Amino acid sequence: MSKKITIAIDGFSSTGKSTLAKQLAKEIGYVYVDTGAMYRAVTFFAMQNGFVDNTKFDKESLINSLSHVNLKFVYNPDLGFGEMYLNDVNVEKEIRTIEVSNFVSKIAEVSQVRAKLVEQQKEMGKGKGIVMDGRDIGTVVFPDAELKIFMTASPEVRAKRRFDELKEKGQNVTFDEVLKNVQERDYIDTHREDSPLVKAIDAIEIDNSNLSREEQFQKVLQLAKITSKSL
Ligand code: C5P
Repeated sequence: MSKKITIAIDGFSSTGKSTLAKQLAKEIGYVYVDTGAMYRAVTFFAMQNGFVDNTKFDKESLINSLSHVNLKFVYNPDLGFGEMYLNDVNVEKEIRTIEVSNFVSKIAEVSQVRAKLVEQQKEMGKGKGIVMDGRDIGTVVFPDAELKIFMTASPEVRAKRRFDELKEKGQNVTFDEVLKNVQERDYIDTHREDSPLVKAIDAIEIDNSNLSREEQFQKVLQLAKITSKSL
């Protein structure tokens, strides 16, 4: 591909954004950034420090402790992408649990959390040649991204995918629990005041309820090639 561009991939939970973004970045030699991992790591930090549990959320203490949250991605050559480190500890496994999923959208509503993460995300994308996935990438982080994709699929299809994934990792969850989590996150993510999940006007929407991974990948790869050539 000729010129390096910025590719923003947004959409609902469990639409397969990260699988697509990772595959695309690898194919075209771009850096992949999973911004959900950053919100998940802050959530894990809040859980570790007792700021959030099933009975409470101490937002003030989390905000006051944000300067102690140091996030970075460390490239793992075996996996071909960066893994999330919270204060120099690899937390990739810890941030993918259903417990973190249950709290993360609450944490992601906090403007001070968003400001800190968005600043870091903008910095990471300065040199272009990046595929970033999340909820506000095409609207807030990179409103000038040359290619914006917005991914959707029915809640049931998404919950089934996430359920299979968690089961494969040996986690003890029910389908109903996962569906409830997907629906709750959709609601909070689309209704929050700061940077709600919304399709950017110039984003291309892909509903992958009935698309195979490969079909979807080929479609987005073509779009990336066309966009980068047209610049
Ligand atoms: O992408 P993933 O499902 O791992 O994201 C976890 C949660 O983090 C989302 O449900 C959303 O609440 C939050 N998030 C966000 N903005 C982003 C990425 C994730 O609010 N850019």
